[in-house]
Amino acid sequence: MRVCILGYGLSSLTLAKALVNQNIYVEIISQKKSKKIGLSRTLGISKSNVKFFNKNIINIEKLLWKLKKIEIYTDNLKNEKLLNFEKNDDQIFSIIKNHEFYKVLEKDLIKNKYFRKRYLKNVNLSFLKDYNIIINCNYFYNFTNKYFSKKIIKEYDSIAYTTIISHEKILNNTAIQIFTKRGPLAFLPISNKETSIVYSVYNSVKKENDINELIKKYNFKYKINKIDKIENFELKSLNLRSYYHKNILAFGDLLHKIHPLAGQGFNMTVRDIKVLLNIIKNKLDLGLELDSSLNKEFEKTIKYKNFIFSNGVDFIHKFFNYERKTKNSVLSKSIQILGKNSSANKAFIKIADEGIFF
Ligand SMILES: Cc1cc2nc3c(=O)[nH]c(=O)nc-3n(C[C@H](O)[C@H](O)[C@H](O)COP(=O)(O)OP(=O)(O)OC[C@H]3O[C@@H](n4cnc5c(N)ncnc54)[C@H](O)[C@@H]3O)c2cc1C
Repeated sequence: MRVCILGYGLSSLTLAKALVNQNIYVEIISQKKSKKIGLSRTLGISKSNVKFFNKNIINIEKLLWKLKKIEIYTDNLKNEKLLNFEKNDDQIFSIIKNHEFYKVLEKDLIKNKYFRKRYLKNVNLSFLKDYNIIINCNYFYNFTNKYFSKKIIKEYDSIAYTTIISHEKILNNTAIQIFTKRGPLAFLPISNKETSIVYSVYNSVKKENDINELIKKYNFKYKINKIDKIENFELKSLNLRSYYHKNILAFGDLLHKIHPLAGQGFNMTVRDIKVLLNIIKNKLDLGLELDSSLNKEFEKTIKYKNFIFSNGVDFIHKFFNYERKTKNSVLSKSIQILGKNSSANKAFIKIADEGIFF
């Protein structure tokens, strides 16, 4: 049983590790010898996904900074909390540094006997015939454009600026998101002295200094000592219309991409891995080969859930985009009232943790 994974990003490595754990031979094909991972990038991972990761992929406990609370604010309700998410003093989300996460996965895989890595600038379909299943996480191969071009795209006309702030020591277990007039700004703690920033700014090319000033303006919690170099990422949302072509399955951000305001892009991929792994285990238990029927079953099980979930995140984006343009606080007040309803609040936490219908 041989699986080929195209691409060498976080989705590729995570999936490869999940598969080698099942004693499946995995060859990863990377186009580049190495790509630098920005030091400012962090990921929020939900509690149930951390549990799944530790049990089925690799133990990441030591890399996590655990959060007990998420507070949401908006420019339209000055100094008043819009929403508050917490659960019996329990951890609800964890933050991990992308480059540390990537290193741990790569280091583990390289010494695994079921794993092999190859560098190939281009692959063609005849080369791929040697594998039972090909999982494509790479946007840059020619056939990606040919077979995975039909998608629903939403341009946000926004850029996400990321950095890390160093600050004076503080008990740092609460994430803060502020829906500013320029877009959502998140403060995501990664230690008692460091906090990662994701600022998604609407239609503007800002200079690094402007972003620094905006971070300082909105920060009400930290005594900032230093702001690291700022990196930026263009934002869009997409969902592929068809998840596979024969035995080639699209995966990771190639399959679906969403706005980072809810910290859910990679969490969706982890949920995809859960589903794919279940289908694979069932097939192997029945003594069946992995073939294109796997892709069909995967698409049937998860595509509609992913579509609804992405649209939910898009709705939140649209709502706050509209809210920021209004000059009164009626909308914000109604959200505040909804958030205080304990059933609604619990439902928000559950969806952010487990996705929908899991
Ligand atoms: C600002 C921002 C904040 C985010 N925050 C969160 C969050 O809090 N929680 C969450 O769940 N999701 C978050 N996301 C989404 C998350 O970052 C992506 O879903 C995830 O990184 C996608 O990984 P990927 O491997 O599918 O794609 P990519 O990382 O885009 O990789 C695609 C392909 O690029 C190439 N590549 C990438 N890296 C390398 C490398 N090091 N070496 C060689 N080739 C490489 C490979 O071919 C790879 O397959 C955020 C996204 C952004 C932009």
